[in-house]
Amino acid sequence: MSMDDCLFCKIINKEVDSEIVHEDEICVAFNDINPKARVHLLIVPRKHIAKISNIEEGDEKIMGHLIKIAKDLAERFECKGYQLLFNVGREAGQIIFHVHLHLMGN
Ligand code: 5GP
Ligand code: ZN
Repeated sequence: MSMDDCLFCKIINKEVDSEIVHEDEICVAFNDINPKARVHLLIVPRKHIAKISNIEEGDEKIMGHLIKIAKDLAERFECKGYQLLFNVGREAGQIIFHVHLHLMGN
């Protein structure tokens, strides 16, 4: 899937509505439309990377940033504990091919 028909690129560019809870120069975070926990956020790099197996040299800063923002959001939404998850590949249940970190907290 290219950037042009990527749902998460459209959410980042605000061509598709979502409940955005955080944005900065590297990433955007919004509520999952089908939450599996009290707090279920998707933390998405602005850079279109289809899946973790496609990350390149130089993407380390972006990927580390996603985890830092997940930690900040878990605090903001008063999660007692939380899970951080990347589904990588269709076989693992990835349905949106733009990298996203699931934050699921209770
Ligand atoms: P994946 O299985 O690819 O790791 O997760 C994709 C996630 O995106 C799912 O949890 C699904 O509920 C969420 N999702 C799918 N379509 C939309 C949408 O249009 N808006 C939002 N906010 N989340 C979506
Ligand atoms: Zn995209």
